[in-house]
Amino acid sequence: THLSQLETVLERYRATGIENLIGGVSLPSSSGATFETCSPVDDSLICSVARGNEADIDAAAAAAKAAFPAWRDTSAADRKKVLIKIAEGIEARADEIAVAECWDTGQAYRFMSKAALRGAQNFRFFADKVSSARDGQQLQSPTLMNVTTRVPLGPVGVITPWNTPFMLSTWKIAPALAAGCTVVHKPAEFSPLTARILAEIAHEAGLPDGVWNLVNGFGEDAGRRLTEHPDIKAIAFVGESRTGSMIMKQGADTLKRVHFELGGKNPVVVFDDADLDRALDAAIFMIYSLNGERCTSSSRLLVQDTIADEFEAKLTARVNKIKVGHPLDPATEIGPLIHKEHFDKVVEYFDVAKQDGATIAAGGERLGDVGYFVKPTFVTHAKPDMRIAQEEIFGPYLTSIRFSTEEEALEIANGTEYGLSGYVWTNDLTRALRFTNQLEAGMIWVNSENVRHLPAPFGGVKASGIGRDGGDWSFEFYMEQKHIGFAL
Ligand code: NAD
Repeated sequence: THLSQLETVLERYRATGIENLIGGVSLPSSSGATFETCSPVDDSLICSVARGNEADIDAAAAAAKAAFPAWRDTSAADRKKVLIKIAEGIEARADEIAVAECWDTGQAYRFMSKAALRGAQNFRFFADKVSSARDGQQLQSPTLMNVTTRVPLGPVGVITPWNTPFMLSTWKIAPALAAGCTVVHKPAEFSPLTARILAEIAHEAGLPDGVWNLVNGFGEDAGRRLTEHPDIKAIAFVGESRTGSMIMKQGADTLKRVHFELGGKNPVVVFDDADLDRALDAAIFMIYSLNGERCTSSSRLLVQDTIADEFEAKLTARVNKIKVGHPLDPATEIGPLIHKEHFDKVVEYFDVAKQDGATIAAGGERLGDVGYFVKPTFVTHAKPDMRIAQEEIFGPYLTSIRFSTEEEALEIANGTEYGLSGYVWTNDLTRALRFTNQLEAGMIWVNSENVRHLPAPFGGVKASGIGRDGGDWSFEFYMEQKHIGFAL
């Protein structure tokens, strides 16, 4: 059934290809240029995609600018209604979205079916917050009654990556709309399918034309122009750290406000007093789900030497049982990696591990000759300064480093350029408090895998990002504080 459903989705886009959506009108690129999106399962063509250029971004920014005043001034109740209709539209098409995402990105259905529904949840969550978006404070002084309020920034740009692209797009766009901003979305070139479905759902939900514009294309032209456009007031970007640097430079002339969610090399630190069975489950889940193509994946295992042999042996046995396969097979845990380019990068790290003198305990090779499948990989006896312990690999690839003391664990955990998330396993509360207090990460879970609580702040430190979203933090980014003083 999933295959026939996929066929129906693909049928729709094969004829016209994936077009841009500008000012409520579906259009090819103004230059007529296209690129192809292919499935990482077998490299087969999915369809052609409009290759947006500077003129397309200019048209989308103009549409977003024109639509802004009316959307800003739409009552909170009416904005909320549209966001809920979008959530309902996602729910109604959740399975279609999930299969499309699996085919376009290689992610396993078991995770994408949940990710599609999480997209709807994101819209419902921010729909509920619309009425409080403008809330401010009253700050009395002897001579003035000071009040603050928040106003939406204007048209904003959203640039998303190819990992769980549907869910991430909803997470960025829902709060922008709730705040009263209008949007130009530039999705990743490797995964354009569900961004198009999402924009169609928003259109059908009655979102006014121009409030949400979609321009496909590459980072170096469409993406760059969006970040340089004078009418675009802010850029919400999710992607690699070095792209974040480029966007910051590109946006400098127009003083762009930026929110960056970037790369990670997140540690899962397992002390010998932890509940080791639960730690094992969580360590496995956080790197071998979503193909390991996950910003918050725990890609470094820091394990105390007293339990390292046993823990690593159990982990190896579990990794060898992980099912790699067709992403639409409900039993599949790991599908193919997104694209040849990324596959080549991950495969290169198999050799890097050997050259560096680490031990490949599981995996370490590609799987089959068709598509971009790799075996889930577990590398032990790594040293903190090795490339496999420092660089974001972004695949089902876990690097284990042993430590003996808490101080050493902390030094290793903090010893990379990144600081997105961290996971600490210990039953010693004092140690957990001490350790988390000093761990350089934007988000830390103790005795837990990553469990997302939507009102909580999301984001990283160091090269992992700038700014936070989630809950009210999303409004802090998409809105401007305004102060008004009334003389008494
Ligand atoms: P990427 O940086 O290559 O691309 C992301 C997006 O930026 C794409 O849409 C791309 O077209 C665009 N882009 C590229 N160059 C640009 C430029 N010069 N100007 C404007 N836009 C440009 O990232 P990717 O490979 O698609 O995604 C994987 C990365 O994303 C990983 O590093 C991962 O850790 C990170 N990520 C972080 C989070 C987080 O919340 N911290 C979440 C998901 C992914």
